[in-house]
Amino acid sequence: MTATIIDGKAFAATVRDKVAGHVARLKEEHGITPGLAVVLVGEDPASQVYVRSKGKMCAEVGIASFEHRLAEDTSEDALFDLIDRLNNDPAVHGILVQLPLPGHLNEDLVINGITPSKDVDGFHIFNVGLLGTGQKSMVPCTPLGCLMMLRDHHGDLSGMDAVVIGRSNIVGKPMAQLLLGESCTVTIAHSRTRDLPAVVRRADIVVAAVGRPQMVPGEWIKPGATVIDVGINRIEAREKGVNEDGSAKTRLVGDCDFDSCAAVAGAITPVPGGVGPMTIACLLANTVTACCRANGLPEPEGLTA
Ligand code: NAD
Repeated sequence: MTATIIDGKAFAATVRDKVAGHVARLKEEHGITPGLAVVLVGEDPASQVYVRSKGKMCAEVGIASFEHRLAEDTSEDALFDLIDRLNNDPAVHGILVQLPLPGHLNEDLVINGITPSKDVDGFHIFNVGLLGTGQKSMVPCTPLGCLMMLRDHHGDLSGMDAVVIGRSNIVGKPMAQLLLGESCTVTIAHSRTRDLPAVVRRADIVVAAVGRPQMVPGEWIKPGATVIDVGINRIEAREKGVNEDGSAKTRLVGDCDFDSCAAVAGAITPVPGGVGPMTIACLLANTVTACCRANGLPEPEGLTA
C-alpha cells in the first residue's frame, strides 16, 4: 500500500484563504480589523524568523500585526506592563508571547497574564481547563491544525483508535483532548510507555510529537492507518557537503520514518510541508475567532475545533 500524502502546505493555503475572506467581511460589514500582537523577548535567531514570518502571513490575510521586541534582560514587571497594555487595547484581539523566554522570566506566569480571550496560542490555564472540559476555548495552533487535517481526510473520527506519542502541554495533551472531543478512543504514549510499538500498532490514527528524528518506523504502523507527523528535526543531509558559511548541509525530517511509514499507512503528513504550515494558518484562524468573539459576531465556519 502507498499512503495518500496529506498536503499540509496546500491545505494551509485554503485555511488562509478562508481567514482572508472573513477578515475582508469583518472590515467591509463591521469596520473591524482583526489585530495580532506578537511579543519577542531577546535575540533567539529561530524566534526572530518565526516572528517575521508571522508578521508577513498576517499582512497577506489582512490582519493587523503589532510587533513588540524587548531586550533580553527585560524585567518581568516591564513585560507584564506591556501585556497589560495589550490586554486593554481594543485593536489587539490576539496576543502571542514567543517562546522560549529568557531564563529569568517565568513562562507560566507570563502566559497566564494574557487575557484568556486574547490567548491565541491557547496556553493559558483557563483555556486548558475549557478544552479539558469540552467547552469553547482558544485551541493551541498545532493540535488544531492536526485536527483540521484529520477531519478533512476522514470526516467523522468517532470510534477510531488514536495514539498520541508525546505528552507536552503544547502538542501532546491538547491533541489528545481534541481527539477525545471527536469521540476517538485515545491513548497518550510517552517516554515511559512500555512496548511503544505494540501501542502504536493498534492505532487507526497516530500523532507523533516527540522531537526524535525518524523514531517511528513503518513496522509499528497498522496497515491503512493515518499518520500525523508533528516532529521537526534537523539531521545531516543525504548528500555530503557544506554551506557557503562552512556549516554542514542539513535537512528536516519528522518523528516518523517517512518512507517506511508511507509504505504501510493509508495517509501521512510529510515533513516539511505537513503540520508546520497548518500551525501558522491556525494562529491566523484563532486571531479571527478571537476578534469575532470579542465583538459578539458569529465565528468563522470551519476555523475552530
Ligand atoms: P516536548 O519535548 O515538550 O515533548 C516531547 C514528548 O515526547 C514528551 O512528552 C516525552 O514524554 C515524549 N518522548 C520523549 N522520548 C520519547 C520516547 N522515546 N518514546 C515516546 N515518547 C517520548 O516536545 P513538543 O514541544 O511537544 O514537540 C514535539 C516535536 O514537535 C518537536 O520535534 C517539535 O519541534 C515539534 N513541533 C512542531 C510544531 C509544528 O508546527 N509542526 C509545533 C510544535 C512542536
